[in-house]
Amino acid sequence: MRRRRPPPRGAVVDLDSPLGSVRGVGPARARALAQAGYETVEDLLFHLPSRYEDRRAVATVAEALALPPGPRTLRGRLSGLRLFRLRRRMSLVRGLLTDATGSLPVVWFNRPYLAAQTVAGEDYLLHGAVREAKAGRELLNPSCERAAAALHGGRVAPVYPAIRGLGAPLLRRLFNAILDEMDPPLPDAVAEPLPPDLLARHGLPPLGEALRAVHRPGEGDDVDLLNRRRSPAHLRLLYGELLELQLRLAVLREREVRVPRSHRYRLDERLRQTLKDLLPFRLTAAQKRVLREIAADLESPWPMLRLLQGDVGSGKTIVAALALVIALENGLQGVFMAPTALLAEQHYASLRRLLGERYRIALLTGSAPDLAGARRAVARGDVQLAIGTHALLQEGVIFRRLGLAVVDEQQRFGVVERQILKAKGDRPDMLVMTATPIPRSLALCAYGDLEISVLDELPPGRSPVATEVVPASRRREVYARLRAALAAGARAYVVFPLIEGEGEEEAAAESIAGMGERVRTYLADWPSAVLDGRLPAAERERVMRAFQAGEVRLLVATTVIEVGVDVPEATWMVIESAERFGLAQLHQLRGRVGRGAGESRCVAIVSRSRRRQSSPESERRLAVFASTNDGFRIAQADLEIRGPGDLLGTRQAGLPAWRVADLAADLPWVERARDDAHALLPRLAEPALAGLRRRVESPAGRRHEPFGGG
Ligand code: ADP
Ligand code: MG
Repeated sequence: MRRRRPPPRGAVVDLDSPLGSVRGVGPARARALAQAGYETVEDLLFHLPSRYEDRRAVATVAEALALPPGPRTLRGRLSGLRLFRLRRRMSLVRGLLTDATGSLPVVWFNRPYLAAQTVAGEDYLLHGAVREAKAGRELLNPSCERAAAALHGGRVAPVYPAIRGLGAPLLRRLFNAILDEMDPPLPDAVAEPLPPDLLARHGLPPLGEALRAVHRPGEGDDVDLLNRRRSPAHLRLLYGELLELQLRLAVLREREVRVPRSHRYRLDERLRQTLKDLLPFRLTAAQKRVLREIAADLESPWPMLRLLQGDVGSGKTIVAALALVIALENGLQGVFMAPTALLAEQHYASLRRLLGERYRIALLTGSAPDLAGARRAVARGDVQLAIGTHALLQEGVIFRRLGLAVVDEQQRFGVVERQILKAKGDRPDMLVMTATPIPRSLALCAYGDLEISVLDELPPGRSPVATEVVPASRRREVYARLRAALAAGARAYVVFPLIEGEGEEEAAAESIAGMGERVRTYLADWPSAVLDGRLPAAERERVMRAFQAGEVRLLVATTVIEVGVDVPEATWMVIESAERFGLAQLHQLRGRVGRGAGESRCVAIVSRSRRRQSSPESERRLAVFASTNDGFRIAQADLEIRGPGDLLGTRQAGLPAWRVADLAADLPWVERARDDAHALLPRLAEPALAGLRRRVESPAGRRHEPFGGG
């Protein structure tokens, strides 16, 4: 039993103390902590328990013998402690715990010092597992401490995630030392960064108190609330986390939109009529609403910064096209950037169709026939609308008078790329679009600096895509049905994952080259084509045009068709090896059908093999996929299954590592934090809020560039 030494005189610590000055932290432990990013007492205070164990109830020996085996806390005296040396430097200590009701054998492995350190006649608190051994019940490997100064037992014990091999019991001791030795003591040591009126409004304790309570829960605390991270202390930390992020975003946004831009738009009756005349169909109510929101942004003197979210097929392109027309009619240039050449080519073709000869439009992709010529025309201002891919970002692409930049499928781009595009004009207006709907809680955190518009309505006449998930053993039947559909006039996609590592027989069988060819042979009665990202641009374009025209009826493709491809006549899709795709990706793929009036069907075939067992996660994904066509519900499920980082894509993993907030569950707190941040923004200059202001303007905040993520 380790005797508690009185702390050496003057060994008080404060928030800035290096961890090496905390009792029990020698150079080796200090190094381990530093390597994990914990240098000071303050750093460590934010290492929160992952859970709490209720060890308040102390059992008697009689109870430990009578109740079922399991973890128990016992209190009593220790006697007869004997050390046995085993092979290979292993050891065993045996002894007897005695209280008023009886005695229980205790066994410790590899804690030889215990025999020498316990004091007879002293009361100890032991927490460990009561188990059934050969000779009867015993207590295995319990923590052992003097009852008068119990730390691990007899209380609600915090359980910490290990830091570089420093386990929960040691961390418990460390935190105990810190809380004991801090001067001023913890609640007062931490300056409260938030205005008291906000805390009072939400009924939250100050930061110092919250930190003390998460590390040293009180005798009467609700363990269930602690474990669900919903204790008042946890809520205070959660709210602080969210408020800080929202303030950072608000500060960024203010910086972006504070200065009026140089170009202006006029939206008069004549222009409104022009827009109406262009329309090939009636806009949905949602499209009209979003267009009004965009028009209001353009008419204001400040640059637009707007995210347009809409499920696959909700009709984002036409909204972007009309916004671009407003720019072109005002004598400004527009740019429309898409993540793949295939999609850029499709936008180019459909905007040409929509706008006719009215404007000068150019395609700028890496594989465009005369990229250099197109660039020069853009620089001269001869091209009014540039549509393209990353090729638009090259230094050589210079605009004469860029007014509006549209980024399609923005989740495929990083923050940097959008910034480069933006820098090609003088504070151009930005409209970024995404078909990966993300739950509102996440949107407010990842894109809190953008205004958000939502297209929450599909064009009329769409029926949901009938979706099935079937095992590979039913493949034959699936293709027989596809054959019948083709015979009845359907156009179809068959999608294969991109499989690396050739040579594997299994991979070849599932690849576009293996099974894809067999599918084409089986369905040879209908014209088919293969589309994958490696085809030369001209070939790709030819294939897409043939599929659009119905000359090709079956498109065997990789995920190049995942984003944006729009052929409303296509009504059948088979997805091979569906277990390899993420939920959002499956939903995007399915979005290629169901874009017209016809009934559409999507069959996801799940391949399993000895090598690749299905995971419960992939089963869950596929079950959600089959159960709904609603992109927002899919996104919410995805958030719950994978967490925010994955959902946003690695390129946008700029969200802070949340300590407490759970974006899948915390929407009300996210909204509260956002509202409060907006109200707080004008007050940030107050001296009382200097600390908070420093935090939200600190470099860490740069991870949250406009457009969120980073
Ligand atoms: P997404 O939002 O997935 O980018 P698109 O803009 O490609 O969707 O539109 C999907 C299809 O719906 C296109 O064929 C488009 O022409 C059509 N569409 C869009 N809006 C309407 C509407 N209001 N009425 C009828 N069809 C529409
Ligand atoms: Mg689109």
